[in-house]
Amino acid sequence: MKTYVIVKTHELALKGKNRPWFMRRLVENLRTATRDAGVSNVWQGQMLIGLTLENEEAWPLVKQQVSDCFGVAKFYKAYSAPQDLNRVKDMLASWLVGREFNSFRVTANRADKRFPIKSESINRDVGQFVKDLTGARVDLTRPEVQIFLEVVPGEILVYFDEVRAHGGLPVGVSGLVSAMLSGGIDSPVAAWHMMKRGCRVHFVHFHSYPLVDRSSIEKAEELVQLLTRHQYGSQLSLVPMEGVQKQIILETPPSYRVILYRRFMMRVTEALARSRGAKAIITGESCGQVSSQTLDNMAAIDAVANMPVLRPLIGANKEEIITQARKMDTYPVSILPDQDCCSLFVPRHPETRAKLETVERLESALPMGELVQQAIENTQSRLLRLVASESPNR
Ligand code: ATP
Ligand code: MG
Repeated sequence: MKTYVIVKTHELALKGKNRPWFMRRLVENLRTATRDAGVSNVWQGQMLIGLTLENEEAWPLVKQQVSDCFGVAKFYKAYSAPQDLNRVKDMLASWLVGREFNSFRVTANRADKRFPIKSESINRDVGQFVKDLTGARVDLTRPEVQIFLEVVPGEILVYFDEVRAHGGLPVGVSGLVSAMLSGGIDSPVAAWHMMKRGCRVHFVHFHSYPLVDRSSIEKAEELVQLLTRHQYGSQLSLVPMEGVQKQIILETPPSYRVILYRRFMMRVTEALARSRGAKAIITGESCGQVSSQTLDNMAAIDAVANMPVLRPLIGANKEEIITQARKMDTYPVSILPDQDCCSLFVPRHPETRAKLETVERLESALPMGELVQQAIENTQSRLLRLVASESPNR
């Protein structure tokens, strides 16, 4: 007996003329996601995508990989029966042994119109059979058990329990963005939200190595590796801050240093984004979370950007962000101690209401264009690839 995974998308999200393109992208992504997971085929049906498993044992890992694939709303493990309702009933009878439930619903869908029995008749016939066998009643709105029968060419797919996934859009359909990734809790969550909306994410991490140790770089690499579960291959740009930091420390008062670091980061990120064709910059800021994330400061930072700067977490509370970070497995990595570049030579109480004129005056003492160029030239690029593995948290 063949085992499949049946994948369904949110109908609404994928309506209209983009649907065929979204579906092709999702099929492609599922293929990549399950490449080494025991899947022999990924195919597109009328209203669903199917994965053919090499054997039952493949299910746990495939379940994991499909759960991580954005665009998937829900999925099921499905069994194949011949196009013969008596054989389907035999299968149901053996499956229903030992299952206790008071209500159920049969939902048939006849994608293969050559099958002579209409969906409503299948529902009625199989429904009556289950009712007689179990004594449970039919409940079309809130059934305890759902029985799906999908008539496809050559067979009927039978499936029951639904696994919920994230929904959203397949990575790739919304274009490329560049995410500023620190070693902290927030920025990986921000990047995750953009992936969920179909963006492929290029990551940019700024570090002060060799002024400090490599701990922030190692954390960034680990975080990107975890996020690569959703996009299968990730580019990480590692940008040295050493040059600009030495200058800023020499020339500017401590309270403005974080803003100057950030404006520098923004300029470099934009240049890297443009060279890759990315269309927006992503940060992990949330309004008022820390003293540097005020509206005044965000405005002073955004003033140097000439492409949209998106902040997916702007309205999120810290607890909400932490809950999400735990689900993504990034939280334990994010809280490891590191030597973050932005904490270098900055006061405990930085400026919260940065004035643009002051910032610009301070910056005019620095050879900003040259420093940006230098940082770009010294940027190292890394490609991280998907490592398929099971995680207890997801
Ligand atoms: P996070 O948890 O993401 O570090 P945070 O609450 O610590 O955020 P800040 O340190 O103020 O906030 O940083 C705000 C945002 O600036 C980060 O979310 C990130 O997008 C960007 N950022 C900060 N430091 C770096 C860095 N070293 N490299 C790349 N981006 C950074
Ligand atoms: Mg931080």
